[in-house]
Parts: sequence; structure tokens; C-alpha cells
Amino acid sequence: MARKKFVYFFGEGTAEGNGNLKELLGGKGAGLAEMTNIGLPVPAGFTITTEVCGIYYKSSKKYPPGLREEVEKNLKRLERLVGKTLGDPADPLLVSVRSGAARSMPGMMETILNLGLNDKSVEGLAKKTSNRRFALDAYRRFITMFGATAMRVAREKFEEELEDVKERLTRTRLKKGRGKVFDTDINEGELVEVIRRFKKVYRDNTDKDFPQDPVVQLWGAIDAVVGSWMADKAVTYRRVEKISGLLGTAVNIVQMVFGNKGGGSGTGVCFTRDPNTGKNVFYGDILMNAQGEDVVAGIRTPIHLNDLKKKIPPIYRQLAEVRKRLERRYRDMQDIEFTIEEGKLYILQTRNGKRSPRASFEIASDMVREKLISKEEALLRIAPEDIERLFYPVVSPDIPSGELKEKFFASGIPAVPGAASGHIVLSAKDAEDWAAKGKSVILVRKETSPEDVGGMHAAKGILTARGGKTSHAAVVARGWGKCCVVGSEDLVIDYLQKTVSV
Ligand code: ADP
Ligand code: MG
Repeated sequence: MARKKFVYFFGEGTAEGNGNLKELLGGKGAGLAEMTNIGLPVPAGFTITTEVCGIYYKSSKKYPPGLREEVEKNLKRLERLVGKTLGDPADPLLVSVRSGAARSMPGMMETILNLGLNDKSVEGLAKKTSNRRFALDAYRRFITMFGATAMRVAREKFEEELEDVKERLTRTRLKKGRGKVFDTDINEGELVEVIRRFKKVYRDNTDKDFPQDPVVQLWGAIDAVVGSWMADKAVTYRRVEKISGLLGTAVNIVQMVFGNKGGGSGTGVCFTRDPNTGKNVFYGDILMNAQGEDVVAGIRTPIHLNDLKKKIPPIYRQLAEVRKRLERRYRDMQDIEFTIEEGKLYILQTRNGKRSPRASFEIASDMVREKLISKEEALLRIAPEDIERLFYPVVSPDIPSGELKEKFFASGIPAVPGAASGHIVLSAKDAEDWAAKGKSVILVRKETSPEDVGGMHAAKGILTARGGKTSHAAVVARGWGKCCVVGSEDLVIDYLQKTVSV
């Protein structure tokens, strides 16, 4: 019997896999293969199948025989294609090592970027890019990600060191009173110190030196991704979302591209339609001069796709073309991750986008009209919960998100979905009295008790500072289908002064 194939290559217009192999290559791997096949600009790489992860857990955490050789062979192929070698001190190839199961589990598993950097190759990257600051910055990020995910060193330990350096900056180099210091304020010399400190954190917490051998780094990262499949949070997520029957996660090893090489670079996410309203408009944000993780960290404000259109029109046009082609191929709204490296566009991921109930209807019916899907298919795309949720009042999706952000006051745990507006009242009695006079009120309490039920019933909505999804307020409100937010812990409620502040 021929041996099973455990690794699938993609690059330069052809891939061994394709979009139909989601079970085997995971959603991300199948997407990368498919996008490569249809000629989209995808950085090259290879995918270790979900079967490998399955075998690993069935055979007391051992990889199947032959896997090492297959990975080695594919790495060589990638190096040949790109013309760079992993760990080369003069001009290193860098890769990301990314998880990806057949069903999307956002944020549940690990990704390591900039793998292949060590004390020597970081200087090679510095010379090759004529940007030592960029190279050093990539290295310190890699040490953090590798330390945190592959070796389970608490991320805060690295962050503390970085904060320490930043704090000194405020005292010395930067003018006093300038406010916040950004990561981008740290200069080359300071980054060298950050790296030295990070390596010490690594050593102190693992009893090992930070690995300089890129092959050791690579297998450490593969272990981390495969290991993240059984991490508590991933197991819990699958239970809660009722995801079962999957083989495991795939591991995607992808040539790094850089969105943090200056003003002509950036990284972003876009949806082929508006995921809130479902309208057929291009929707998305880009963070200029940034690497993937910065988007989540919210360090700087992203720019809108319309700004990209003005700033780098050819990239916008290319992205708009990608939008069209991916929708036609997948016949559904796509959520696309991309990076621009010095004016060149790369697509890093595509998947069916999550959407609001309203958008589900809008998109399904629009796609019937556009002849992308049949009526029957459109009906099957609407979940029963979508129909239920459609009847709750919602905050108008036409209000610009900027305006909502400006008016944002506090957040809490969503107990019962919906939206409500009215005067704030702080006691059940006030709620009943005011409601009797025809006023709309929101009952705001630290928590509710059975005595409050009359006022709760009279109110349009309920907000509490304490309690979770099973608190009194949540349970009672749920029974009525009344909009309710609980556990909004930042709220300071003073019953005597009748004030609510954060
Ligand atoms: P998730 O499954 O959480 O979406 P990803 O594997 O997509 O994780 O990686 C997270 C982010 O890291 C991506 O959105 C992208 O910005 C960045 N990233 C991953 N691989 C690469 C790569 N090869 N080059 C550049 N950036 C990358
Ligand atoms: Mg992603």
C-alpha cells in the first residue's frame, strides 16, 4: 500500500491541495491551496494534514513515521522556490506556523510569526532590508510568540520587560508630558536591550537558551500548534459550539510577508459584503506599517478601505478583484486577511464570514438575485436562531461605528439580546412609577432581587453591575425576552446620590 501523504505544498500558481479538502487540510490550508490554484497572490508554503494531528493523539503523542522526512522535503522545496534558506545568516527565509482546523475556531489555537530568526540571521535580515530596526523588532516578537506558545512562558513576563524599557524612555529620551509611548518609539539600541532581556526571560523560565537552530524552532512551533488542539480553551470551545468529529488541526507553514516595512506596507481584514447590514459593499480596515498581531492589539487606529483607495489605488483595485473572484468561487460572503508588503498585495486567508442575522437574510436573498445561489440554497443558509433573533430590536446598523464608539459608556455580559432606550432609573419603584406615566425607562441596578420584579417588568431594558448569565436579572429577563445586560463591572452606581458613572 502506498504511504499516506501527510504534507501538501502550495506556491507559484499551483497547489497539491484544493478548496474541497477542508477536512484534511483545515479551512485555512484548503483556502490557501484554492487561492493559489486560482492564481491569487498567496505566499508559498505547505500544510501538514489534520490526519497527522489525529494520529499524534492516538499514538501517545508521536508523529507518524515519515513525517519528518516529508516536512524536510517540502521545506527544501519552499526554500528553492523562494530562493532563501531558513536560518541563513546572510538572507534568511522566515515562515509563519499557523493552526487551522476544518471548522473555524477563532483565537482558540496558536500562530507563530517570524520563525527562522536567530542572533545571526537577524543581522542578515537587517542588511538585506536595510532596516535593522525592522529586523530587531521582528526578532523580539518571535521570541515572545515562541516563548509564550511553544514553551508556555507567561506573555506578561515579556510585556513587563518591554514596559520597563518604555517607562525609562518616558523619563529620558522622550520629552516629558508627551503621554503614551508606543512600541514604535523604541529605537534600535533599545530593541537590542529588549531582545537581551527577552532571552533572559526565556532562559529563566524554561531552563534553556532560546533555540538558535531554525529546525528546532520549526518543530517547537509545530508541536505548539498541534498541542493547542487539546488546550483547555480549545476543548471547551468545541464542546460549547457542539463541534465534534474533527480529526484535529492542520499546521500551515507559510513564507512570511511583511506589513511592517514602512508607509507602503500594512495588514488588514476585509469582508466582501457588510457583515452588519449584509449590503453588497466592500467592507474592511487596514493598519498601515503593522504586523498581524498589531491589529488585535489595537495599538493604532486602522484606516478604512476607502482611504486605501486614495492612498494606494492599484492595491485597492487588485483587492477589489480578489473580492469578486473569491465570492464567485465560494458563492458566499468571504472574510479575507491580507498584507501589503512595500506596495505588493498578498492574501493570507479566506473563509465564509460571520454575519448578523439581518445580514444573513440580506446576503442570501441578494445572492439569489445575483444568480450565485439557488432559492433552496438560500433557505438552507438561514439558521432557525437567525429568524428568532431577527425579531429583537437592534441598534440601527446605519449608525456609523465611529459615532457608536464616541457614545460608548460601558460594556457587560449579554444576557438577553436586543436593544432598548429610555431614562435611567435606579429603583424598581421608580421604574414602575415612571412607566405608569408613560415614560420609557431602563432599570439600572447593582443586582436585582425578587422584590424588583415589578420594576423589571415595567422597564424597557435591564442593566446590572454584577452577576452573570444565570443571575436573577438574566434569568427573569430571559423569560420575558427583555433586553438585559449584566455584570457591567465598570459601573459605579450610587443609589443615594442617584448617579451612575464609570
Ligand atoms: P488565526 O487563525 O487566528 O486567524 P492566522 O494563522 O491567520 O491566525 O494568523 C494571524 C495573523 O498573523 C494573520 O492574520 C496575519 O496577519 C499574520 N500572518 C500569519 N501568517 C503570515 C505570513 N506568512 N506573513 C505575514 N503575516 C502572517
Ligand atoms: Mg487568520
